[in-house]
Amino acid sequence: MGLERLKKVRASFAADLAAAGSDPDAVETLRVAYAGRKSGLLQDLTAALRELPNEAKRDYGQALNELKKFVEDGLKQAKERAAASAGSSSVGQIDVTLPGRALPRGAEHPVHLVRRRIEEIFLRMGYDVESGPEIEDDWHNFEALNIPPDHPARDDQDTFYVGSNLLRTHTSPVQARVMERTQPPIRIVVPGRVYRRDSDLRHSPMFHQLEGLVVDEGITVGNLKATLETFLHALFSDDVQVRLRPGYFPFTEPSAEVDISCIFCDMKGCGVCSGSGWIEILGSGMVDPRVFEAVGIDPERYTGFAFGLGLDRVAMLQYGIPDLRQLFAGDQRLTRQFE
Ligand SMILES: [Zn+2]
Repeated sequence: MGLERLKKVRASFAADLAAAGSDPDAVETLRVAYAGRKSGLLQDLTAALRELPNEAKRDYGQALNELKKFVEDGLKQAKERAAASAGSSSVGQIDVTLPGRALPRGAEHPVHLVRRRIEEIFLRMGYDVESGPEIEDDWHNFEALNIPPDHPARDDQDTFYVGSNLLRTHTSPVQARVMERTQPPIRIVVPGRVYRRDSDLRHSPMFHQLEGLVVDEGITVGNLKATLETFLHALFSDDVQVRLRPGYFPFTEPSAEVDISCIFCDMKGCGVCSGSGWIEILGSGMVDPRVFEAVGIDPERYTGFAFGLGLDRVAMLQYGIPDLRQLFAGDQRLTRQFE
């Protein structure tokens, strides 16, 4: 009888399915044997429907459809089990004892290293670290520092303008800002970015300065010289010689350019010092009384000194970087060396 055969097929499929487990090859063999288009058992059972007498066709057809659904569902679940166990077996191949992937490590930028070193030297000497805005007004960047609109020093500092303001051309405006809001004694250093329209081996449109200012009663050129010697010995070495040459800055009077003996050639003369044995390292001077007047400090009572240096220049000297622009090109091969 047809119905008996359907029952047997159902039982054998259930047994075969259990035997196949989650082995994908066994499940596929099972699918071909039962549900294959050409020679699957279900095809044969469907063909057998035609041979049955009409009165038996209805029950057989119904039972056959149920069997088809049973086989379909069983195969579907078996395929899912096989896929799931394939996934878990590949997880089993991961060697959990292998070390993890290391995250790439950043490094401090050489200019930042220099800045921190110099800040530390001055913090030990009792200075405060100050900062100010990079977009400045004309008053703080120029006029308060004794650089009126017609002053030739403005030509030396090719300025980027931002509307009626400007990108500060030096860190000196922070001196003016601090003196406007504080009465002496003042002892500060001011590191920061500054901007000028300039680009070559030694100049970049954005560069870094560090400015120092001391204001109190009885401050003299002797204090300036002693401070700079202490600083430069701490920064480079106790062996460097320090030389003050007459210089000119609008906001200091008298002014001095400061050189150190060449740290590369022992003053015999080399490319870095242009054969002179000396390297120009900073500018300095006694604060001009007109600056004190502009910011509301009594020039009869107080004197002071100021100095400034290029942090990029120090980084170039200390790490042997030949082109200033390399510092800001964003090439990680440079910065990675400072890990
Ligand atoms: Zn030299």
